Amino acid sequence: MTKKLYIETVGCQMNVLDSELVVGSLRRRGYEVVPDAGDADVILFNTCSVRQHAEDKIYSALGSLRAHKKRYPRKILGVLGCMAQKDQEIVRRRAPHVDIVCGTGQLSSLPELIAQVERTGQPQYALGLARNEASRREVEQSFESYDPLRDPSVRPSPFQAYVRIMIGCDKFCTYCIVPSVRGPEQSRHPERIAAEVTQLASEGCKEIILLGQTVNSYKFGFGDGRRFRLADLLARIHNTAGIERIKFVTNFPRDMSDDLLDAVRALPKVCPYLHVPAQSGCNAVLKRMKRLYTVEYYRDMLARCRERVPGVAISSDFIVGFCGESEESFGRTCELVETAGFKNSFIFKYSARPGTKGTELYQDDVAEEVKKRRNNDLLAIQNRVSLTDHLRWVGRTVEVLVEGPSKVALKQKDPPGGPVQLTGRSPTDHIVVFDGNSRLIGQTVQVAVEEATSFTLFGTVQTREHIGVDQPRHDDEGPLLSIATKEGIKRISLPIL
Ligand code: SAM
Ligand code: SF4
Repeated sequence: MTKKLYIETVGCQMNVLDSELVVGSLRRRGYEVVPDAGDADVILFNTCSVRQHAEDKIYSALGSLRAHKKRYPRKILGVLGCMAQKDQEIVRRRAPHVDIVCGTGQLSSLPELIAQVERTGQPQYALGLARNEASRREVEQSFESYDPLRDPSVRPSPFQAYVRIMIGCDKFCTYCIVPSVRGPEQSRHPERIAAEVTQLASEGCKEIILLGQTVNSYKFGFGDGRRFRLADLLARIHNTAGIERIKFVTNFPRDMSDDLLDAVRALPKVCPYLHVPAQSGCNAVLKRMKRLYTVEYYRDMLARCRERVPGVAISSDFIVGFCGESEESFGRTCELVETAGFKNSFIFKYSARPGTKGTELYQDDVAEEVKKRRNNDLLAIQNRVSLTDHLRWVGRTVEVLVEGPSKVALKQKDPPGGPVQLTGRSPTDHIVVFDGNSRLIGQTVQVAVEEATSFTLFGTVQTREHIGVDQPRHDDEGPLLSIATKEGIKRISLPIL
């Protein structure tokens, strides 16, 4: 009999990929995914520990399932991933009705853990070793993920796929829990990665996104002394038939080597887009964060990226309100964002993570309201910078891999066969929205950009299939800030702060 599985995923692309692999392995054992936890035999939460808020969300979801589990004791409830790895005891205490606690490195054992619960009725736990608990090799082995057997039907889009090229992290930024919950940095064998890319291409995948916490630190040592870096890996997979685009995230500023940048320029399928988080614009804060670079180094790195990869788009992450961040330090971060020309930035309020060096060494001394205000202020600056960046695209034609209906279209009921508002991304990772036929989904099309907001480019598709309609434009990703055309800014509405 088919069993029903419900899975909820919180957090980064790594978690999205882990969930895809879990679903793939359970489907092969006869499970069917259902959209409602109440209908499922197995309910799984794949969790995130990077910020407190993500953990609170999971505890609240687990709490709301307590009565359900009491009523249907044979249903199995599992907590997977980073929070499971970090807080096994706390999960057991706060949610004693949970049957499975399974860390990031143990996901391949999940089918067996489910079978054990069914057989014994006893809770099951599977976790990687703590980093100080055994030798590096032993800890590494306890985190080794299984070779993925992919399930295309669970991917957010069948034309795009994440491919993990490394796991773990050895950087130990003082605010960050990732090195504890994802274990030591380990790079996968290039031939395994290449085989996975070939398989994905054979399933119709056109864009692959290589994943690593510090993806540009990728290094694989062959037994004969040869070493493979990310530049070599890009060259190795570049000619995979069917793959049109290759992206990679997330980059560490110190590891942005010239040979990698040269590979990005030389290999046409590798997109001119780099996500390189700066985290702060103040040297004293960067030092307390143990980011291993200064703002001057970061700016030089940006200049090198732009010189070696003309037209490259760069995005960043920032943490506001880290321990000891004064108004002056925050001002330096604002200055960096004002002048660095990022396509976009993800901005986070510092969330103290027990178990990190940050909580041991420093006081979380910036008040919540101050963090909130700095977050809003920095976002407002970035939005202005993004708009300037986006305006440069108005009047140009960009190549777009069409992902599907836009958020606006998903909410609307379209007449069958009529034009829909579609969305996709350009090689520089810009979101592009245009009207077209849904047959275009999964294809690469040329779009003439006519308007722009801080979040989205709007245009007209340059192919026969397009059925032109004069519809009002909608902002796809956020509050409408302003709209610009070739003739200049046409209408501006004030941002909602
Ligand atoms: N490995 C990536 C890197 O080095 O940039 C990022 C990994 S982390 C999951 C994604 C982002 O979360 C980081 O770039 C950082 O901005 C943010 N982050 C990490 N720890 C945080 C914390 N304790 N509080 C707030 N934001 C945090
Ligand atoms: Fe966390 Fe720093 Fe590693 Fe990124 S590089 S995962 S921020 S420790």
